[in-house]
Amino acid sequence: MTAPEPTTDLAALPKVLLHDHLDGGLRPGTVLELADAAGYELPASDEAALRDWFVQGATSGSLERYLETFRHTVAVMQTADALRRVAREAVLDLAADGVVHAEQRYAPELHLAGGLEPQQVVDAVRAGLEEGVAEVAAAGGRIGVTQVLTTMRPSEHSTTIARLALANRDAGVVALDLAGPEAGHPAARHAAAFRTVRYASFPTTVHAGEGAGVTSIAEAVHLAGALRIGHGVRLIDDVQLGARTETDPWGTDGARLGHLAHWVRDQQIPLEVCPTSNVQTGASSSIAEHPITPLARLGFAVTVNTDNRLMSGTSMTQEYAQLVEHAGWGLEELRDVALTAGWSAFLPHDQREALVEDVLRPAYTPRASGRHRA
Ligand SMILES: [Zn+2]
Repeated sequence: MTAPEPTTDLAALPKVLLHDHLDGGLRPGTVLELADAAGYELPASDEAALRDWFVQGATSGSLERYLETFRHTVAVMQTADALRRVAREAVLDLAADGVVHAEQRYAPELHLAGGLEPQQVVDAVRAGLEEGVAEVAAAGGRIGVTQVLTTMRPSEHSTTIARLALANRDAGVVALDLAGPEAGHPAARHAAAFRTVRYASFPTTVHAGEGAGVTSIAEAVHLAGALRIGHGVRLIDDVQLGARTETDPWGTDGARLGHLAHWVRDQQIPLEVCPTSNVQTGASSSIAEHPITPLARLGFAVTVNTDNRLMSGTSMTQEYAQLVEHAGWGLEELRDVALTAGWSAFLPHDQREALVEDVLRPAYTPRASGRHRA
């Protein structure tokens, strides 16, 4: 592996973020202000304490405590103004993190408690994203942002959300996502929703292989027709790694892939991997031992993502830095995931090509020595 040059500014590298939840990326100060305006009580009353509370909740190992963090963010996102503000700020924060293209996902059905209709939720988020993109452009930056509509595994409304996504396909909604607890909530329950979007030639991504194993991934790919997998890290259970040696620290040279792992790799189905989040939820023991490294070495189409920037106290730059520091990644590995993410964005092919060839590849290609004379 080539270590990044010491001067490599990870924050400045252009990045593509495919897996980031709108209700998991709020600024702590915004949560406080929105809660105040709504008369909603939070577990902490100043920014630093609230930030810590969110990260601790996500790291506690208790599912109850983890879900509680989202109860609070979702609770303050029940008006059009609040959704618009959160969406706008997300775009500004991502641009400041070097993100040049992002998909923002959220579940419209969780934002109806204040009386909004699902379409109004989508409209409010779109307005906020557009404002953010315009502000970034006005300041001389560049970012593109699209929406992914999430439906929840325990939900009864997946077909409604699928239709909502299709109704907004020309207004920035690019895919349907399935999220929520995998165990006990198989994707098969939502077969009608997946059929609805698939027959309309519209993409699906499914959270799978995070809380449950290989069967859940198989279901996402083969039953839901997922074009990408959210997380997918348990795919490593279908890979028999060889002996670790000094020159082959992961035993990938002698690895044997099961049928599903073969399929996912051979079809280059992108994995939206979220390293810090996976360590927090126990899907992986550490960044150093995270399956993303052997999966990348084996040629899987892996991408690096943030999942929930607030709960994980992370950013794309931070995810990159963690992989460099703890998993021995260099500029080459970072370039591979960035280009894969660019090619895997739910965008028309010509736009992906422009993103990859004009924006990403040049930034990750070290300048040939001598080309720039002092
Ligand atoms: Zn997620």
